[in-house]
Amino acid sequence: MEHYLDNAATTRVSEAAAQAALAAMTDSFGNPSSRHEAGTRAAQALKEHRAVIAKALGAQPGEVIFTSCGTESDNWAIRGAVHLNRRKGKHIITTAIEHDAVLEPCRALEREGYEVTYLKPDRMGNITVQQVADALREDTVLVSMMLVNNELGIILPVAEVSKLLKQRKSAALLHCDAVQGFLHVPFTVGALGVDLLSVSGHKVHAPKGIGALYIKNGIKLAPMIMGGHQEDNLRSGTEPTAQIAAFAAAVEEWQARGTENRMYLKELKDYAVQKLTAEIPGLELVGNGESPHILPVTLTGYKSEVVVRFLSDRGIFISSGSACHKGKPSHVFAALNLPKKQMDGVLRISFSTHNTKEDIDALTEGLKQAKDQLFTSLS
Ligand code: PLP
Repeated sequence: MEHYLDNAATTRVSEAAAQAALAAMTDSFGNPSSRHEAGTRAAQALKEHRAVIAKALGAQPGEVIFTSCGTESDNWAIRGAVHLNRRKGKHIITTAIEHDAVLEPCRALEREGYEVTYLKPDRMGNITVQQVADALREDTVLVSMMLVNNELGIILPVAEVSKLLKQRKSAALLHCDAVQGFLHVPFTVGALGVDLLSVSGHKVHAPKGIGALYIKNGIKLAPMIMGGHQEDNLRSGTEPTAQIAAFAAAVEEWQARGTENRMYLKELKDYAVQKLTAEIPGLELVGNGESPHILPVTLTGYKSEVVVRFLSDRGIFISSGSACHKGKPSHVFAALNLPKKQMDGVLRISFSTHNTKEDIDALTEGLKQAKDQLFTSLS
């Protein structure tokens, strides 16, 4: 039996989502732009699916544009925001613990003459609104701050930043990468006060290849892709109706039990914290992230890559940090300035509602064995 505890990397597609994709591919498979009945059916389904995502975000359907993934949403938001504000300045504020989908476009903009302030977290991973206040300038045109950090599970003060920007009458647009926060942490775009917000399907039991960008009414981003005028003329290309149907189904399924799901995840995380710290001597928690699905720990003195492989051989899947970093030390843990021995041993355990306490029991046993068997090779 396998124990998949790497849900911040990606999740298993739910039955309901897979069925919805199948129906969209085989029943309502028309092109939503076609004028005949099959096209009309597909267009109607698309409208309903957009409304589901919009409702989950607390947005209007017209404010939700489907993209191919969270990375695309982040890239578009950042490029689009600075282009829109191009006459107002060339300063961007973001954090040193953003995903590369935010950091890389920011670095590219630096090469094009923008100045970017990367706010550093404290030892626990926290970033404060005061740091944004201190960095904010007349020529700041964009603040991009994630809602939940993908490695630490830290929740960032996005709503407070929005209030600050309003108080200071800043021209800066506020973008939020909510790829990890979506559904796991309750929010609406209105309560966060954001202008742009990114989400991704595959983190919430929909397939890979679908994301969305919330664009607040009145914000006129330049098109991401030009062509056949789909997605309100902002992102042309025939809509991936199967992925969209699956995304809506997964979100609807989650929303039906939103509070219970979050409580269940918190229960799993609390159980893991209690069990792992009690039974694995030397294992320590990293940071104080409150998101219910992400638990970073460190096994000081052990190489996380070796531990991850050891567990994988036993059918237990966790991560040594963000899956996007593939072996390179994570910039997020580096930003915490952890001592090298602790940093080398960082492991990320991440839960979904498909997990049970048995998965955590299996992980605990696996880690006990790892400590016993890897000890001699590393000491
Ligand atoms: N932002 C965060 C916080 C993420 O965790 C991820 C994926 O790991 C992304 C963006 C990128 O999303 P996607 O894989 O849909 O491109």
